[in-house]
Amino acid sequence: MIICKKHGLSGFCTVCIHLFEGLETAWVAFPGFPGAALTTVCVHCAEKINLSELDHLKDMTFDDQLNMSEDAFEKQLEIIDEKHRQITTKTICTLCYDELQVTHYRKASLPDPFPVYENTLVYQDRDQIQQLEAYLKTHFTFPEFRYSIFHQDQPDRSAIQISRGNIRKPLSIDVYYITEQDQQQQLIQLVDTFFERITKKQRLIRFYEKEDVICKTLPNGGHSQERREGNVLREVEIK
Ligand SMILES: [Zn+2]
Ligand SMILES: [Zn+2]
Repeated sequence: MIICKKHGLSGFCTVCIHLFEGLETAWVAFPGFPGAALTTVCVHCAEKINLSELDHLKDMTFDDQLNMSEDAFEKQLEIIDEKHRQITTKTICTLCYDELQVTHYRKASLPDPFPVYENTLVYQDRDQIQQLEAYLKTHFTFPEFRYSIFHQDQPDRSAIQISRGNIRKPLSIDVYYITEQDQQQQLIQLVDTFFERITKKQRLIRFYEKEDVICKTLPNGGHSQERREGNVLREVEIK
C-alpha cells in the first residue's frame, strides 16, 4: 500500500512514463507474477523490451507460478526485473491509475472503461464527510451495531457506516436495523437536506435489514466473525 496525496492509503501499480504523461494511450500489461510489480506500459515500450517473451506466463495460474522450481522462479523474476530496468516507470496509486485510464479513453474518443463517478465526495472532501456523519448523528437516533466486528470497539455504536467515494463508486451511506418505511424516509430527507449545500451530489444510501455476520467456533475454542454482504431492504441512489 502507498499513501497517495490525492487518494489516501491505496494499492499501487507501475506505469511507463509515456502513459503517465499522456504521450501514449495504448496499453499493454505485464503478465502477473508473484513478487513482481503490476506494470502497464505503452506499446512502444512493450516492443522495445520484447514484452511478448513473457506471454507464456499468461497461460499459468498464480499457483502454477508459485509451484515452479526455485531456480526457474528466480530466473523468471530476474528476466522480469531486467525488462523493468530498460524502461522509465512511475509508481502510482490504483485510483490515480483509474483516473489516468479514463483520461486516455476520453482522449481517444472511446467510451469510459467503467462507470465513472466524478461528482461525489472523495478522500479530499473528508471534512465534509465528517460533517455529514455528525449531522446525521445529531438529528437522528440510530439503532446500535450488535456485533463488535462493525464498530471495532468504538464507544459510538451507531449502526451507520459512511464510505467515501472515488472514481469507481459513489459516497455510500449504509445503515442497519432501520426497517420502518417512515424512519427510512426521515433519514433520506435528512441526507437530502445536508446535500442541498454540497456541490458533489452523487451518493448511495442503503438500508440493510441487519448486520450479516457468521460466527464460527474455532478448533482452539476461540470465535471468529465473518462479515457478509447482507440483505438490502431499500436503496436510494442519486446519480
Ligand atoms: Zn512507454
Ligand atoms: Zn492516487
